[in-house]
Amino acid sequence: MSRQGGAAGSSGRGARTQAAPEDTTADLGKTIQRLRKAYNMSLGDLSEQSGVAKSIISQIERNETNPTLSTVYRLSRALDTTIDEVLRTRSPRRAVVVGGGYIGLEMVEALVLRGLEVTMVEKLPQPMATLDPDMGERVAEALRAMGVTTRLGVGVAGFGVGADGWVDSVGTDDGDLPADLVVMGLGVRPSTRLAVDAGIPVGSSGGIVTDARMATPVDGVWAAGDCVESFHRVSRRAVSIALGTHANKQGRVAGLNLSGTPARFPGVIGTAITKIGTTEIARTGLNEREAAQAGFDAVAGVIEGTSRAHYYPDGAELAVKVVAERGSGRILGAQIVGGPESAKRIDALAVAVWDEMTVDEFSQLDLAYAPPFSPVWDPTMIATRTTASRVR
Ligand SMILES: Cc1cc2nc3c(=O)[nH]c(=O)nc-3n(C[C@H](O)[C@H](O)[C@H](O)COP(=O)(O)OP(=O)(O)OC[C@H]3O[C@@H](n4cnc5c(N)ncnc54)[C@H](O)[C@@H]3O)c2cc1C
Repeated sequence: MSRQGGAAGSSGRGARTQAAPEDTTADLGKTIQRLRKAYNMSLGDLSEQSGVAKSIISQIERNETNPTLSTVYRLSRALDTTIDEVLRTRSPRRAVVVGGGYIGLEMVEALVLRGLEVTMVEKLPQPMATLDPDMGERVAEALRAMGVTTRLGVGVAGFGVGADGWVDSVGTDDGDLPADLVVMGLGVRPSTRLAVDAGIPVGSSGGIVTDARMATPVDGVWAAGDCVESFHRVSRRAVSIALGTHANKQGRVAGLNLSGTPARFPGVIGTAITKIGTTEIARTGLNEREAAQAGFDAVAGVIEGTSRAHYYPDGAELAVKVVAERGSGRILGAQIVGGPESAKRIDALAVAVWDEMTVDEFSQLDLAYAPPFSPVWDPTMIATRTTASRVR
């Protein structure tokens, strides 16, 4: 939410464009129209920048004189009101989080910690679609164990508004869900409008095309971060993956080249990590579906282990999944879902994916061991051993 005011408020091109709290719906409708005209913003761009659904913005524009839409105006105060303020001033009891990706999960956790009853709605049959379904199910279980209601395979169709002018329900294709607060975390796409207008090519993944120096095909123009597409070292395809890890390295590469020191960005393998409550989640490389899409004949092995030696107190359970190429045994990707101290184990597997190691090679690595830190055979090694028996 912190980025929402940026598009309008930080441009320095004149008057403040956000709606003041005392604005009426009509004012907000005018504000939106002014925004779109002044900055030539499409409905999609405004929706993306503000986090307010396109359908709601359209509704406001179409009905700006309809007083009942003060309701929608209040929902749209996300343009300049933080969730924190809403929690303080309205004391909402029930929250609906739409979207079960990284951001959705983080919002679910934050709202649960604030004592709200949280429902998570996700159009796909699992949360964390970057994981395979079996690992995603473990995340769903973790959500339910935290008391979160999960509505999986359910699409959001609209919002209901109460007499007090505040959202009171989320309409889904499986009925209405009561809500005092709604947060949408529906994913991210590269913001490329500026580049497209400047004639800079955008690739098949939707991101700006650059070479390994982060230079675009237009002389003197460089690009880095969420707006560009990157070379995936395993699938060998161009991908758009919005991660701060990629953005930082790409920015550094672009800066070095710009200042005369040659540097190259070597590509990505999509290593990412998050948590929900005490359940940690991580992934690297390709999952089973992505491996098949990339043309690999892939097999997978999943194991359940513990973060510490079984006799050492306070160890946590974790599941490790390894995806490998049949025949060669090359590790294509891995996923981890488990308790505290489990997810950062993905880093060793990320190095293996990066370096095209095989499951046999990984199983022989000299990884650190002492009872407070892992079993003698770290769960990642047990997972590669299990997978090794399947690749042959
Ligand atoms: C809630 C949240 C949590 C995240 N957590 C993680 C995490 O744990 N790990 C991780 O790896 N990644 C995380 N990410 C992703 C990470 O934040 C992004 O990948 C990263 O910030 C991208 O950097 P960037 O510089 O490309 O874009 P941004 O950080 O979005 O910066 C782009 C800047 O450009 C400005 N801008 C846009 N258009 C213009 C214009 N026309 N003129 C001038 N300025 C303009 C914007 O206002 C903005 O300040 C998270 C993202 C979110 C939203």
